Amino acid sequence: MRKVSEIITNARKENRKNLLEPEAKAICQEYNLPVTEFKVARKENDAVKFAEEIGYPVVLKIVSPDIIHKSDVGGVVINLKAADEVERAYKTIITNVKKHQPDAKIHGILVQEMAPPSTEIIIGAIKDDQFGPSVMFGLGGIFVEVLKDVVFRIAPVTKQEAEVMIKEIKAYPVLKGYRNQPPLDINAISDTIVKTSKLVTDYQEIKELDLNPVMVYEKGAKIVDARIILE
Ligand code: ADP
Ligand code: MG
Repeated sequence: MRKVSEIITNARKENRKNLLEPEAKAICQEYNLPVTEFKVARKENDAVKFAEEIGYPVVLKIVSPDIIHKSDVGGVVINLKAADEVERAYKTIITNVKKHQPDAKIHGILVQEMAPPSTEIIIGAIKDDQFGPSVMFGLGGIFVEVLKDVVFRIAPVTKQEAEVMIKEIKAYPVLKGYRNQPPLDINAISDTIVKTSKLVTDYQEIKELDLNPVMVYEKGAKIVDARIILE
């Protein structure tokens, strides 16, 4: 896939190991992974234009090679419903970033589709020295951070293997549905795991990949944030 190689080559040329979110999402798109629609604005007017093209509500985020955790520096504003809100958020993000990290190089502001809130999962990959690329799956937030309720597999995984991974986490009932909670789209999750595992198998120059979070719905899933680190 030419586009993936181009993005990686370009980052290397600029001496960057951390791909920008729009780069990571563009790579995901080559594998038909369900990322939020996005565009990078370099001025306020464009941000509004892109928001209108994408459709409200939208989310604005900082695009900087020097910032990995965007919300830590006030670089993410969600749920913007009109042009004036987009203009204000654009200014706020630039101000926040200049305050928290004055030296950060700003490539632009990412305008993206707002994914409706839902159950959040994490799909990740790391390249293990011994086993090579492996994929990880778990639910978002405390499930991963506190309870370490995650599963790993050596990549690539088949659809059946991905389905077993999903059933292996303790929080599986949250996905399967309980009481009044309807079942979520397990098929969309296993599909995303399979495609992610193929991506990191094809491109061994990827050291780490993080789809965090991915919103899961009764029908479908949406990758809200994507991070790729090169070797
Ligand atoms: P960070 O670099 O801090 O991880 P994220 O892109 O993950 O930044 O954004 C922080 C949080 O904002 C996400 O965990 C998610 O809850 C919310 N968020 C970000 N983008 C979107 C989006 N497109 N739709 C809905 N929620 C979003
Ligand atoms: Mg994130």
